[in-house]
Amino acid sequence: MYKVTLIPGDGTGPEITEASRRVFEATGVKFEWDVQNAGEDVYNQEGNPLPDRVIDSIKRNKVAIKGPITTPVGTGFRSVNVTLRQTLDLYSCVRPCKTYTGAKTRYDNIDLVIFRENTEDLYAGIEYEKDSEGAKGVIDLVQKLSGREIRQDSGISIKPISVFGTERIVRAAFEYARKNKRKKVTSVHKANIMKFSDGLFLEVSREVAKDYPDIEFEDRIVDNMCMQLVQKPELYDILVLPNLYGDIVSDLAAGLIGGLGLAPGANISSEYAVFEATHGSAPKYKGLNKVNPLGVILSGVMMLRHLGEIEAADRLDNAIAAIIKEGKDVTYDMKPTPDDPTAATTSGMADAIIARLK
Ligand code: NAD
Repeated sequence: MYKVTLIPGDGTGPEITEASRRVFEATGVKFEWDVQNAGEDVYNQEGNPLPDRVIDSIKRNKVAIKGPITTPVGTGFRSVNVTLRQTLDLYSCVRPCKTYTGAKTRYDNIDLVIFRENTEDLYAGIEYEKDSEGAKGVIDLVQKLSGREIRQDSGISIKPISVFGTERIVRAAFEYARKNKRKKVTSVHKANIMKFSDGLFLEVSREVAKDYPDIEFEDRIVDNMCMQLVQKPELYDILVLPNLYGDIVSDLAAGLIGGLGLAPGANISSEYAVFEATHGSAPKYKGLNKVNPLGVILSGVMMLRHLGEIEAADRLDNAIAAIIKEGKDVTYDMKPTPDDPTAATTSGMADAIIARLK
C-alpha cells in the first residue's frame, strides 16, 4: 500500500485527477490517497492557496500526484506550482516527450526527455514592481555599480543562475541518461547574450559532462534549438535547460508529440517527487468532462516507475498505447478534427484504459 498525496488542482484539474485515480487503482497497485486541495478556492476559503497542510502531507508521504492549478495573471497570489517546487526544492523537472503510434502529430518517432531546472532563473520570484522602493533601489544600485541607466518606469525581474543549481540539474540529466541507456545530453542556453547567467549554465554543463565520457555532450543556443526541434527533432535525445527556456521548450516538445493533452512530467528533489502534467488548468473547459486525462495518467506511469512498480507501469503504458493506436476512445484533441462527435469524454477515456487493463 502506497500512501500518496493527491492534489486535485482547479479548472479541469479535479475531473482529470478523478479519472486518473481510477486508472491508477485499476493497475492493481494499492494506494491510499491523502487528498489535499490547493489553489484559488482554497485561497478564498483559507487565505492561502498553498496551506502548510499540503506541504506537510507531501513531506510525510514523499510522493504526490497533482492536477494543474490556475495562477492569476498580473496581480493576486504567486503561482502555487512555482511555490511548491521552491518550498520542497523540487529542482529537477523531468518531461519525457514520446510519440505514440496513432497520436495526431506531424512527427513520427519523437523520443525526447527534457530536464528543466525548477528553482532559479527568472522564475526565482525576485521581482520589483514599477515605482516600488525595491525597483528604485535596484535601479540606483545598478547605476552606481555599472553606470548603466535603467528607465525609472521599469518593473524588474532578477535572473539568478548558480553553480550549485546548474550542477545538480545537469548531473540529474546525465544520471538519467546513464540509467536509461540514452546517448546524448544537449545543454540549452543563451550564453552569447547573458554571459554571466546562461554563460555560467553552459560552463558548468561542460564541467559536469567531463564526468560522463560515455555520454555525448553538446550545447545549443535556445533560439536555434527551437528551430532545430521543429526541423529535425530526431537529432536530439536529452535536453537540459534553465527554468524559463525549459518551460517554453517543454510546450514546444509537447506540440511535437500531439499536444499538451498527453505530455507528462515529474518534479523531483533528493527526497520528494511530485508528478504532474505539463499542461495548465485549461479553465475554459472546466466541468465539461472534455479534456484529455493522459497528461496526468502518463505522469502516473512515471510515478509507478518511481515507486518501483515497473510491471504495473509497463502494463498501464501498453494499455494507453493500445487506446491511442485504436483512436476510438480518445478525447477531442486526439481526433482528426476537434469537433469530432465520436470524441470520448475525460472519464470515458479513463474507462477505456481501465477496460484494457482488465
Ligand atoms: P493550458 O495548458 O491550461 O491550456 C492551453 C491550451 O492547451 C488549452 O486551451 C487547450 O486547448 C490545451 N490543453 C491543455 N490541457 C489540455 C488537456 N488536458 N486536454 C486537451 N487540451 C488541453 O495553459 P494556459 O491556458 O496558458 O493556462 C491556464 C492556467 O493554468 C493558468 O492559470 C496557468 O498559470 C496555469 N498553469 C498551471 C500549470 C500547473 O499547474 N503546473 C502549468 C501551466 C499553466
